[in-house]
Amino acid sequence: MSGKLCPRCGQPYSYLEKRRVKGTNQEYFYAVHVYKEGGRWRKRRCYLGPRLYSRVAPLQGFQLRGLLGNSVDRLLDYLESIASDLEEMDLDEGNRRRLREVAERLLSLTE
Ligand SMILES: [Zn+2]
Repeated sequence: MSGKLCPRCGQPYSYLEKRRVKGTNQEYFYAVHVYKEGGRWRKRRCYLGPRLYSRVAPLQGFQLRGLLGNSVDRLLDYLESIASDLEEMDLDEGNRRRLREVAERLLSLTE
């Protein structure tokens, strides 16, 4: 079990889950924590990052990067994680408008 600690939250995870971003070849990994709450099984996912960092050995590298890496990389990891979470949610018109505003600000940083 000691080899299956989540590099995000430090808790043991139940299994790894691979997801593909719609319409792309980008793959991301999540550590899935399955736990019981109020008599029901629930899942909590921790974003681990793209494939490169998700194989067993590089998990430590990802963890190290999280601890030592520069803050821009870390913030980009958060952004990817946030995007993945938003993909699973129902966004109303107000949400989408705010998202567009944020996306436009982010896009302007790439110029
Ligand atoms: Zn976790």
